[in-house]
Amino acid sequence: RAKKHLGQHFLTDENIAKKIVNSLSFQEYHHILEVGPGMGVLTKYLLEHPKQEIYVAEIDNESIEYLKQNYLQLKDEHFIGDFLKTDFSFTELGQIAVIGNFPYNISSQILFKIIDYYNHVPEMVGMFQKEVAERTAAVPRTKEYGILSVLVQAYYDVHYLFTVHENVFNPPPKVKSGVIQLIRNPKPGLEYHEVLFKQIVKTGFNQRRKKLSNALKSLVIPEVLKSHEFMDKRAEELSVEDFIEFTQLWKKYQ
Ligand code: SAM
Repeated sequence: RAKKHLGQHFLTDENIAKKIVNSLSFQEYHHILEVGPGMGVLTKYLLEHPKQEIYVAEIDNESIEYLKQNYLQLKDEHFIGDFLKTDFSFTELGQIAVIGNFPYNISSQILFKIIDYYNHVPEMVGMFQKEVAERTAAVPRTKEYGILSVLVQAYYDVHYLFTVHENVFNPPPKVKSGVIQLIRNPKPGLEYHEVLFKQIVKTGFNQRRKKLSNALKSLVIPEVLKSHEFMDKRAEELSVEDFIEFTQLWKKYQ
């Protein structure tokens, strides 16, 4: 029985499972981490790639038992538990591609985790609720454009792959799902400024209807930037590059 508090909706369509797994560029990576494997609908196809080492992050004991009994190729030491708690030090792999039909109750936290560890994660293919997938891929001046769009796109190129209907899950979720692919491509200019960058983006969008001069009031704005042209704009009007440029200036005059 699916556990709602763990965001469990099991995919029942094998073709979609294959399509998700086939969207990952296997040949490039030796290590693959699946988040939330559940009963293994994706895991099964991942294990068809014998050259790759498959790791799984799952917190539900019943699912873990099931996976251990049914997928004997999965090594015991490759079960890493709660994805939100991992610091990627469970191994000294360096690079690990991430895949998953993610638990929707922690979608943003999963994406933030990946960007915090982007040095380890060259690629991600995953299913989220459609709205989150769209927000991640959104462009400026749209209502979907926000914190997730800017922070993820600062580190990754985002590709919206396809939409998945609610009736291919058991139990069906309330909303449609979307599969996205992230390919690491950190934008230049973020080095040493990441904390400030994230702070400006989050604070700017928290009051997205306000001009940045107002929205950013809680931060210590360098005097010379108070009359910068960006201050007259709202966060949703700034591109990812604009936010990076703004952060660099901020740091310079701080
Ligand atoms: N991959 C399976 C499928 O497609 O049918 C299950 C997907 S279900 C939407 C999400 C899975 O994530 C569940 O199995 C749930 O137990 C697991 N999960 C929830 N929170 C988690 C966490 N913090 N870390 C790892 N797995 C988690």
